[in-house]
Amino acid sequence: MSKPQTLLALNWKMNKTPSQAVAWARELLPSLPASSAVLAIMAPAIDLQGLSQTLQGSAVTIGAQDVSAHESGAYTGEISAAMLLDVGAKYAVVGHSERREYHAESSQVVAGKARAAKQAGLIPIICVGEGLEVRERGEHVAYTLDMLRESLAGLTIASADQIVIAYEPVWAIGTGKTATAADAEELAAAIRSALSGLLGEVGAGVQVLYGGSVKGSNIAEICGQPNVNGALVGGAALEVRSVLEMVNALV
Ligand code: PEP
Repeated sequence: MSKPQTLLALNWKMNKTPSQAVAWARELLPSLPASSAVLAIMAPAIDLQGLSQTLQGSAVTIGAQDVSAHESGAYTGEISAAMLLDVGAKYAVVGHSERREYHAESSQVVAGKARAAKQAGLIPIICVGEGLEVRERGEHVAYTLDMLRESLAGLTIASADQIVIAYEPVWAIGTGKTATAADAEELAAAIRSALSGLLGEVGAGVQVLYGGSVKGSNIAEICGQPNVNGALVGGAALEVRSVLEMVNALV
């Protein structure tokens, strides 16, 4: 199976106001080289409309960092997949470890969000990964695959491009500790083989990203692994300069 195009997904987390987001995109566009990688900005929901207008006509796509499991109705504070699509989002991150930890999101909740996103036509980027204690016990593969199965409950796909999986070991997020390229490949390969069991033949073609302290100096080696199809990046996603470093490393 040929490798899909590398996806570089930028997770801004709770950074950048709408006007800062627009200024950032205006700074990025003139310096962005033609690249083999697809760039996607996972921005705060309130930034998406301005970003969508600023990025119109460019190859840069946008997504949200979360989405409601519900279609519409009395869910105060929630944002539906249809609303995100309406402002130009293509992706929605679901199950990021920060939402699992600070908002007590279980894999059952994550699965509901992934289904709602996919049903509406957004591509959910479903995050899974183990904490340090699990890794130290050597149970990271089984733990992550259990989380994957639970987070995909009830989801079906007709083609491989309808979902993305991000393997993000929690101990590597925002800590400066990167998993080795071999660690990333071990889990990406395990996830890929589990996906074909769970989703049928198309499952094997789903893009699997690695996330956890990725930056310009390590992205090429990590994304060069046979089963790694891109990266989900937090800290190094905030400055235009460091994003260009990563894009240039992937050209
Ligand atoms: C993330 O938040 O998804 C992430 C991978 O962050 P960082 O790149 O800062 O480790």
